[in-house]
Amino acid sequence: MCGIMGYVGSEPAVDIVLAGLKRLEYRGYDSAGLGIVDDGRLAICKTPGRVKALADDVAKCWAPELRQRALAGIGHTRWATHGAPTRENAHPHLDAKGRLCLVHNGIIENFQALRARLEQEGHSFLSQTDTEVLAHLIGEFYEGDLLRAVCAALKHVEGAFGIAVLAAGKPDEIVVARRGSPIVLGLCETGALVASDAAAIMSLTRNLVYLEDHDVAVVHPGGIDVRSVDNVPVSRPVTVADWDTTAAEKGGYAHFMLKEIFEQPEALTNTLRGRLDPREGTAVLGGLDMTPREINEISRLVLLACGTSLHACQVAAYAFEELADLPVCVEQAAEFRYRNPIVRSTDLVVAVSQSGETADTLAAVREAQRKGARVASICNVVGSSIARESGRGVYLHAGPEIGVASTKAFTCQVLALSMMALKFGRCRRLTREQGLACCQAYEALPGVVRQVLEQHEAVRAIAGEIARANHVFYIGRGTLHPAAMEGALKLKEISYIHAEGYQAAELKHGPIALLQPDVPVVALANDPRSLDKTLGNMQECRARQAPVYAVVAAGETAANAVATRVLEVPRQPPLLASIPAAIVVQLLAYYAALARGCEIDQPRNLAKSVTVE
Ligand code: GLU
Repeated sequence: MCGIMGYVGSEPAVDIVLAGLKRLEYRGYDSAGLGIVDDGRLAICKTPGRVKALADDVAKCWAPELRQRALAGIGHTRWATHGAPTRENAHPHLDAKGRLCLVHNGIIENFQALRARLEQEGHSFLSQTDTEVLAHLIGEFYEGDLLRAVCAALKHVEGAFGIAVLAAGKPDEIVVARRGSPIVLGLCETGALVASDAAAIMSLTRNLVYLEDHDVAVVHPGGIDVRSVDNVPVSRPVTVADWDTTAAEKGGYAHFMLKEIFEQPEALTNTLRGRLDPREGTAVLGGLDMTPREINEISRLVLLACGTSLHACQVAAYAFEELADLPVCVEQAAEFRYRNPIVRSTDLVVAVSQSGETADTLAAVREAQRKGARVASICNVVGSSIARESGRGVYLHAGPEIGVASTKAFTCQVLALSMMALKFGRCRRLTREQGLACCQAYEALPGVVRQVLEQHEAVRAIAGEIARANHVFYIGRGTLHPAAMEGALKLKEISYIHAEGYQAAELKHGPIALLQPDVPVVALANDPRSLDKTLGNMQECRARQAPVYAVVAAGETAANAVATRVLEVPRQPPLLASIPAAIVVQLLAYYAALARGCEIDQPRNLAKSVTVE
């Protein structure tokens, strides 16, 4: 998920690789490392901190002659998914015999089974990562031909990866492979380059070769040899990059927020990876560390969060009630903390925070623990304070979120909480068949999101109209009510248009007084169960001459006669209707802010993670 940079050529590799890692820093990461080959030996330097700290360590630990001599190196910025951001867990990882080292982006889904097998065969591991297991596996197959060993090992691997491998006896080659995580290659005047992201190497070359899934390649100073994983040569075109380096950092997108909106199919896939059990119709959430009996004994769930995460909790509350038969109470974390809340030992408190550093949520976790509750967390950042202090939970694996306005974290939180609801449901009252139906719906989500994203131009047209307003209402029923609040929050955050999210039925109890022709209403109505009622509310808005933009499930035509414009999104089970709706409101906010010329990635007065109370 984070950064890979490699070089092999006629220049000292250390400086080139460190410079590349520096250019990847914008992606967000928690530790960094570098491996070089010199005189038939590997040297590794790793640090739990920034690339600058890595450079300082390298200068301290490696003699100047070594730094000058090594002509091949691979480096990594890690965004931890398996194991805390420590020096041991940082990449590169060595195989058992120390003959090769590996950097890896992504997740090896079956690493536990592979690790258990290797341990039985006598391997011992120095880290908690999935990556080290892959390094050992490649080592098992290595008999002098690195490409062959990589191909053989990858046949046993499930999951997503972009990897680069360097072997002690091979000072003039780097072997790379990709499945699901990008790898880009390039030749420069002095040698060959390897990276996970064009931004790392664009100052050295503009001629890029992008690997496709299931490709492997051997990179030499003078050439690039791309093959299929069955070792058959394949040809990949050379793309000439015509963007500048700043655009490269955003993968060609104008803003991080847009990039992250469009990353959601991949992020959701990563949240799902290895977590559904299609045989038993349940979810596998090892980090939760609760027996079925303990889950069965929960009498109430308390979900704690702030901001966008709070909306994700409000969506998920419906899933816990319906699937797991559990009373749920969703609380703004600061309110919970200062209210002297009633907490019982049979309550499960779940704290939800993208960064895992949200001060109010962290304080609420501590208060819940002081009162004797069992606490779990849902965080994106591995090893963050909330994840550590809660001791059990589920990581999103959504990749670093740079945009201040949270987007992919929201949909991944809803999915992670939904999987938790499924697991709890299967320990309580759900049948296997009902569980299977949930699994199928969760698995389909990345594709559903992709379909909504394809409609971005239609959303942009609506956003153009919304951008002219000074006040906007978002309305919805059921899970679409928190989605409406999320829509209003997104619009406020980045376009500075005043917006309110309401239960569709609540509008007539007061806010309707504000409706007039220049106050648009976005009606999230893509849950067919409540469509009729929401249509009635839309009529009420139209009667006050407010323009109404409706989001409905595919094939629902009833809104056409009522709404100013209608957008169809893929039909979802009611508990998941908020996901396509969320994509629409994210795009609406983005394009409205763009039309108003706002600083989308640096919205005024906002910070990415709110670490003050
Ligand atoms: N899963 C690997 C780890 O946790 C790679 C993380 C990354 O993509 O940076 O170490």
